[in-house]
Amino acid sequence: MFDETALRELASIQTEGPILSVYLNVDPTRRTAEEYKLELRELLKQVSSEVPAEDLEVAKRYIEYEYDWSGRGLAMFSNAAEGIWYVYPLAVPVRSGATVARRPYISPLVEIDGLYGKYVVALIDRQGGEFYYFQMGELMDQVGMEGEDVRHTRRGRGSSVHGMRGGSPISGRHEAALVQRNLKDIAADLVDFCQKYHPRRLLLGGSEHTLAQFMDALPPATRELVADTFSSESVLNDAEVREHSFRLLNALEEHEHTRAINTVRTQAAKGMNGVVGLDQTLSVANEGRVQVLVVERSYHQPGYQCQGCGYLTAQQMDRCVFCGGTFTEIPDAVEAVVTQVVDKGGNVKVVNDGQLIEARVGALLRY
Ligand SMILES: [Zn+2]
Repeated sequence: MFDETALRELASIQTEGPILSVYLNVDPTRRTAEEYKLELRELLKQVSSEVPAEDLEVAKRYIEYEYDWSGRGLAMFSNAAEGIWYVYPLAVPVRSGATVARRPYISPLVEIDGLYGKYVVALIDRQGGEFYYFQMGELMDQVGMEGEDVRHTRRGRGSSVHGMRGGSPISGRHEAALVQRNLKDIAADLVDFCQKYHPRRLLLGGSEHTLAQFMDALPPATRELVADTFSSESVLNDAEVREHSFRLLNALEEHEHTRAINTVRTQAAKGMNGVVGLDQTLSVANEGRVQVLVVERSYHQPGYQCQGCGYLTAQQMDRCVFCGGTFTEIPDAVEAVVTQVVDKGGNVKVVNDGQLIEARVGALLRY
């Protein structure tokens, strides 16, 4: 199962020999398993001169004999000579590709984690709630709760004949108090559910009026997690909850990217807490000052890394100014800084190409 911990672990790996990183889109609605196997063989052929044959075999064997074809994406990392083999079936699609470097190529996973990492969807009505916990787009847990019956007070159900059936009709005030009590109970359960899973985002579905009341019943810490709300009328089953949440998350993420980019650019223009461009970004990353790294998806640039202290630079230098070590050429300094920031616990946003204009990469600083 892929999660934040696995991502950190991948970011910390550095090997003597080459690591093969393979991403394969296996969305069953697009192609067949046989076609994907063929695609994998083509991808592996492209990197066959850069990596030992054993690693190519490991990936082929996994696809051929072990993979159950669940999910829509797959990430594999292999360096058999140094005992490294990680495979992560993913519930969401990825862009297919194969890369060889001294570290796992993690940017695609960073992007997926940013989008679908850990979130909760809660469908709320006046009587009960249904909570869903998703991790990397995969439904991990689901619980439902029912409060006191407010059935016959629901509108649009039956005629006045129903309303009159049996017992005394509930007064408007009694009904409101009942709904209030139910929402309070649902809120308490949702707080417990969130404390169990620590989602980064919470999406609430329900009628506008009910959600407004429900928000009031939530403690501030949980209310702050609410990233978006939606009308739950269109969401009828679990698959629809998932698909709908994906649409909301994509829109939210795009919005957050735009905001992060604007902040970086503004701060950089003012000479404050932001930098743009590879040279400056590498420089602040070396100092461990990156809080949020913003990088365009297709940006790759060769560079150099000090073998002594890990100092990254896009410019060729004879000796490291910090430790006197020698530099080794690396295929992708952009990916190296992504890995470094993830490893140090910073946040990375992989944004669409063209969003950072000529800079292509930038960072918001811790201090
Ligand atoms: Zn150095």
